[in-house]
Amino acid sequence: QVTDTLAKEGPSSPSYDWFQTDSLVTIVIYTKQKDINLDSVIVDHRDDSFRAETVIKDYSYLVHVALSHEIQEDFSGLFYRKCQLVSKEDVTHDTKLFCLMLPPSTHLEVPVGQHVYLRLPITGTEIVKPYTPVCDSLFSEFKEPVLPNNIYIYFLIKIYPAGFFTPELDQLQIGDYVSVSNPEGNFIISQLQELEDLFLLAAGTGFTPMVKVLNYALTNIPSLRKVKLMFFNKTEDDIIWRSQLEKLAFKDKRFEVEFVLSAPTSEWSGKQGYISPALLSEFLKRRSDTSKVLICLCGPTPFTEQGMRMLHDLNFSKDEIHSFTA
Ligand code: FAD
Ligand code: NAD
Repeated sequence: QVTDTLAKEGPSSPSYDWFQTDSLVTIVIYTKQKDINLDSVIVDHRDDSFRAETVIKDYSYLVHVALSHEIQEDFSGLFYRKCQLVSKEDVTHDTKLFCLMLPPSTHLEVPVGQHVYLRLPITGTEIVKPYTPVCDSLFSEFKEPVLPNNIYIYFLIKIYPAGFFTPELDQLQIGDYVSVSNPEGNFIISQLQELEDLFLLAAGTGFTPMVKVLNYALTNIPSLRKVKLMFFNKTEDDIIWRSQLEKLAFKDKRFEVEFVLSAPTSEWSGKQGYISPALLSEFLKRRSDTSKVLICLCGPTPFTEQGMRMLHDLNFSKDEIHSFTA
């Protein structure tokens, strides 16, 4: 017995069909769309429940098939799957690279610019916080995968000793589980199409969404002429992936990086201070009045809010600015 639910919100919802042999149930979803990418489809299979979510334009379509008996579930919230901690590596004195492995029956690719929620039980309550997946390094290949299963998800996470969630995350041992939600976020990859100048303004772990954006733009946007990252941190020790960034700038002449420190030691000869109109107007030199520009912004809320105001004052339009927030 098969029961199903097709949740639909959009104007014309996809239809679907299924057929079965002795060993296989095949579910076909007809989207009437030409360019459905792998990252627009999320598939989970657990026990007797099969779930396929397809994202088309601004809509999400859900096919949920319960095999042999009907299941009760709330379809409105985020769906979580348990992932295993595979490795944990120090990146700076307080930031680590976590690698999680998806269950073998899950296909999930987090789109560029989106985040997920991690969920852990803490003193008897399920707690969730958002985190932005990154590539395992700035030099990892960034291509549409040929095989549909990239089973690892990487996160750069700063551990706050007085924080609520991150000390618990840091306590996890290799082999332990953490739940990972579906992706969310309002960055659209088409914002990068035809782009000539890409400016990234990141503060602290606000660097995380920039990793995939940077990697994607350098690999997949032929019109791209320049990518500049201005990376704000308190001290040199806080800079995530500094040597990788410097290597990338050396290898790829389209990429430039500049570090700005708010609490440097006396030896620091580079730029200092918080985000400011003076720093921005010097940094954001567009090629020409007509060149297509995108400025991405992410960091602590005051950083992002001040940055947005300064960018508007510098006459960049809404379409030319993307701020990453929850
Ligand atoms: P919290 O308990 O929230 O505390 C954080 C720090 O603030 C601690 O030092 C704490 O002592 C201090 N603090 C708490 N409350 C107060 C207060 N009222 N006044 C003064 N200080 C206070 N982080 C990453 O490391 N990597 C990511 O990829 C990442 N992606 C994100 C994506 C999104 C969309 C968003 C919104 C956030 C992201 N973050 C990321 C931040 C992350 O979600 C958490 O906020 C962060 O990990 C801190 O969680 P925590 O519970 O450990 O700390
Ligand atoms: P941090 O405290 O180490 O500060 C890094 C830099 O941010 C500072 O050097 C300074 O230049 C700037 N900054 C800090 N406070 C400022 C202020 N009041 N005004 C102007 N500039 C200021 O940063 P952190 O601990 O790494 O925190 C990173 C923040 O980024 C967190 O709040 C996190 O939630 C946020 N974040 C958001 C997203 C997202 O929304 N998508 C993703 C990742 C991180």
